[in-house]
Formats: sequence, structure tokens, C-alpha cells
Amino acid sequence: MRSTKGFRFKCTKCGNCCTDKNTIVNVTYSDILRIKNGLNLMLNEILEILGFYTYDKELAAEDRKKMVIPPIRTEKGLAFVGLLKKDSGACYFYDEKNVKCKIYNLRPNFCRTFPFTFQIFFNKVNRSKAKIKMSYTQKGEQYCPGISADMPLINEEQWIQLGKKTIEDLNDNNIFINNWNDAVRIGKIIPTVKNLLSTIFNLEKKLK
Ligand code: SF4
Ligand code: SF4
Repeated sequence: MRSTKGFRFKCTKCGNCCTDKNTIVNVTYSDILRIKNGLNLMLNEILEILGFYTYDKELAAEDRKKMVIPPIRTEKGLAFVGLLKKDSGACYFYDEKNVKCKIYNLRPNFCRTFPFTFQIFFNKVNRSKAKIKMSYTQKGEQYCPGISADMPLINEEQWIQLGKKTIEDLNDNNIFINNWNDAVRIGKIIPTVKNLLSTIFNLEKKLK
């Protein structure tokens, strides 16, 4: 838990967050583009590093609000998009022998922000003013030994800046997912994984 002085955390490089079977390593479209560009991957190669984890319920508005990244409509139903996992439960990019991430500089925001989560609170009078609240994630509290009273206090300002960037990225990603899901619902697009990746690649071209 957070003490009155602040958050204590230092990564011990234990690898728990990279190897937990029950953790999906969520990716946003900008994470996908960063990894694609950093590793110089073609569409078919990107397909090999992604996992589509299907969600078998219909999406109620209430459920949706609670999700940091909502599921995307695919041919097989609603699915969360994350990095592929090995049979052991470890992330595709986790080097078990050397106990490290193979794509550390390209890793998803989900990994950069662990074990913290961020929420934004807008000022009701002036929407351009907002406060970011950070807390430990449930998973972090569950299995991250870096969260401990023996660890140093973190530089909160640096983490808040990272949180801000992550929230912006998540908002952009949610807009992308909403547009995609709407287009699928009205039959404007066939929800194949290839189409999804082509749409993401085209988005990059538009941003250039
Ligand atoms: S679980 Fe915590 S201590 Fe272990 S690698 Fe992940 S962030 Fe670091
Ligand atoms: S991308 Fe790297 S840091 Fe993130 S879960 Fe995979 S191995 Fe761990």
C-alpha cells in the first residue's frame, strides 16, 4: 500500500509480470506500430507475435467503462489484443534463460507503467486542467516484489508524466477501437485480423 510519504517501488527483475499465465500483455495500436517499426516486421510477422484473447460475453456499457482497453470485434467474436504468450505463460518476448525482455526499448506501455495504474480527473470548471491519480495495480500488489516497504520512494513526478502519456495513448486507442467496432457492426469492414492490422498500418501513413 502507499504510505503517507509516497509510493515505494524498485523492479527486482524477478520476471513475474512477464511470465504470469493470467496476465494479458495488452497492446495499443501505437504499441503495435512501435514494435513493427523497431523490429522491421511485415504484416505476416506481426501476426505471429500477437495473441487475440476472445471474450465470450456481449459488452455491456458498464463492463466497458471498467476496461482500460475494451475488446475489439473479430471474426471469432470480441477479443483483447495482446502480445502472444508461450505455453509456459511467459510473454513471447521474455528471454527465460537470460531473465530479461528482448524488446525492452520497444515494450508496450502496459509493461512500462507496471506496477502502477493511472486515472485522470478533469477539473469541472476548466477541463484543460486535470489531475492524475496513480495507484498500484491489483496484479502488482499480488505478485510484484518490487512493491515493498524496503524499497525506495519513487520519483512521482516522472511516473505521473508517464501516466499522462499512457492515458493519451489509451484514449487514442479507445477511439480507434470504437471506430473499428462500429465499422464492423454496420458491415463496413470484415473483421479479419489482417484487415485490423492493415487499418492500423494505414493509420500510421495518415499520421505521417
Ligand atoms: S513483477 Fe515487479 S519486480 Fe518483478 S519484474 Fe515485474 S515490475 Fe519488476
Ligand atoms: S514485452 Fe517485455 S516487458 Fe513486456 S511482458 Fe513481454 S517480456 Fe515482459
